Amino acid sequence: LHIAGDIDYVINMACPASPVDFDRVPLEIMRTCAVGSQMLLELARAHMAVYLQASTSEVYGDPEIHPQREDYCGNVNIAGPRAVYDEGKRYAETLCHTYHRHHGTPVRIVRIFNTYGPRMRPDDGRVVSNFCMQALTGEPLTLYGGGEQTRSFCYCEDLIDGIFRLLHSDFTGPCNIGNPAEITVRELAETILELTGSGSEPVIVPALHADDPKRRRPDITRARELLGWEPKVSLREGLKPTLEWFRFVFNDTATTE
Ligand code: UDP
Repeated sequence: LHIAGDIDYVINMACPASPVDFDRVPLEIMRTCAVGSQMLLELARAHMAVYLQASTSEVYGDPEIHPQREDYCGNVNIAGPRAVYDEGKRYAETLCHTYHRHHGTPVRIVRIFNTYGPRMRPDDGRVVSNFCMQALTGEPLTLYGGGEQTRSFCYCEDLIDGIFRLLHSDFTGPCNIGNPAEITVRELAETILELTGSGSEPVIVPALHADDPKRRRPDITRARELLGWEPKVSLREGLKPTLEWFRFVFNDTATTE
């Protein structure tokens, strides 16, 4: 990969990240994380640019410790359907450390936890987009496997602020960026139903994958101490502009059909 001119930063945000994609494009995901990351690291190396890798809370797999700190090595099922993404991102992190050690490439590794906000794809398949679209279209809200599993949702603007602070720091990472406010999937459904005033109801359907992590919550001590970062937008606040976006998408689709 050759690009003429000066390059200061190479930011690798590539890779399908929705669990529905893990079955749809598994080999593409592995190649993106492995070959794609190495090509971009080579580009950063050639230009002496700072390389930022979007990593993920999925490196912790189905975690056995709670909340997850960066020094926790994780619990990934190598043979499971999520491993294409989880191990792909773990490999990309290892590549970063190796380029840093062997070539002196400045790298930054951010571990992104569940993020949401305006401009998400309505058919993305992840929980916030599914529940918002289901609530707005009057469909049942699909709780996979019961809805007692937890996640911690970070508003997109908070995430971007965290990523920029990491990029402009001199800290290699990894660094968790996420909102530690943890809720069950069922509570998320109830919140979205309340905010939309929708007549939809939650229904329990089978889990997409057997390895669906049961709990997830970032420990953000490192981001607080090293970057002076913490999230500012609560779930309820962040869901309002997100729902506006999905209303816009829904009306747009309804009028063009
Ligand atoms: N989930 C759900 N209903 C949906 C989509 C997802 O109950 O329509 C659950 C999913 O099983 C998981 C959580 O919501 O426990 C978050 O799923 P998502 O796909 O958004 O991201 P993940 O954190 O699994 O990568």
